[in-house]
Amino acid sequence: MKPLSFTRTAVPPSRIRELMALADAMPGVLHLEAGIPDFSTPRFILEAAAEAAGGGFTTYTPNAGLRSLRGLLLQKVREENNLDVGIDSIVVTHGATGGLALLLPTLADAGEEILIPDPAWPDYEMLLIAAGIRPRRYPLCPEKGFQPDLGELEDLVVHQTKALLINSPANPSGAVFPRESMLALYEFAREHDLYLISDEVYEHILFDVEHVSPAQFDTDGRVISVFSFSKEFAMTGWRIGYVVAPPSIAEVMTRLQEPYYSCANSVAQKAAEVALLRGKEVRQSMVVAYRQRRDIALAMLPEELVLHEPQGAFYLLLDVSPCPVADGYAFARALLGEKRVAVAPGPAFGEVTKQAIRVSLCAAERELVRGLERILEFMKG
Ligand code: PLP
Repeated sequence: MKPLSFTRTAVPPSRIRELMALADAMPGVLHLEAGIPDFSTPRFILEAAAEAAGGGFTTYTPNAGLRSLRGLLLQKVREENNLDVGIDSIVVTHGATGGLALLLPTLADAGEEILIPDPAWPDYEMLLIAAGIRPRRYPLCPEKGFQPDLGELEDLVVHQTKALLINSPANPSGAVFPRESMLALYEFAREHDLYLISDEVYEHILFDVEHVSPAQFDTDGRVISVFSFSKEFAMTGWRIGYVVAPPSIAEVMTRLQEPYYSCANSVAQKAAEVALLRGKEVRQSMVVAYRQRRDIALAMLPEELVLHEPQGAFYLLLDVSPCPVADGYAFARALLGEKRVAVAPGPAFGEVTKQAIRVSLCAAERELVRGLERILEFMKG
């Protein structure tokens, strides 16, 4: 038998999914491992989807998405993200993941490099490896509040570097980049002739800070913004995201959409329209709950355990280095086995979080509190 693709088989498995699968197979587990909102998709969104499906809205849509949805998204990014773009910049995608799957090979060829954070959502690295593009990590350290250091970034740019990918509010740290950092990152990208990919899927999950889209500073068409309905509207399974890109990039992505996905799910696009039109209030109520959970968690945990006080997203990084375990992965496995609490292992996100675990705030308060109590007990030994 001829061997399978060397490139594709090199894609590492997701260690978060691994922990989720182990936890699902055990009874009585407290689930703090996944970035899946514990809220149901709001009822009016479900009803809109049912109506669309019942009304026969069940066929392919245009590759770039429904024009009506793209029109609403255009209005949203103009008003909320301060982006001065036209409708030909907007591509509706199979979640943000599907958007990145189209975008990364549009920007770079096999053998070229894209800078991604350490720590980062693991799928960036997987998507790049799958496309034969080399991921190069830039550190975001707890000592610097998980903020980028332009001097360190500078050292990592080589001739083959095509793009810099940033994520704010960030998974897994919950750090939010302030306005001046966003501007500096854009200027850095321009100075080094890099594309700037901005993953903004947590843009509305914020605790008293502002979210700044770097594409508003873009004067020469190098910033691409990636958004999603998954987290903010509790719609992870609907698989709807969108990318806002300079028209020449959006055009290639739209072409690629045909052989990759054809289009985003038709019924889910209709649901997304209603989420945009009527979802602001319910979204805000979910953010209030995440914030309350963050505050409860911070009040319970000794300060030295918390690597960063999150200003956004719905995660908390905890330091496990004082514990007698090899790393955050060994900690997460042992914690699950002994205390029936599932968390995401820090090494899944990179080297910087090797000795950490990520706790998700996507759990009811009672479950979160019980989970944290068990983590603290486990740490005491
Ligand atoms: N970007 C980041 C930073 C994420 O954490 C996630 C999911 O966890 C995604 C993108 C994926 O979003 P979607 O469900 O829209 O594919």
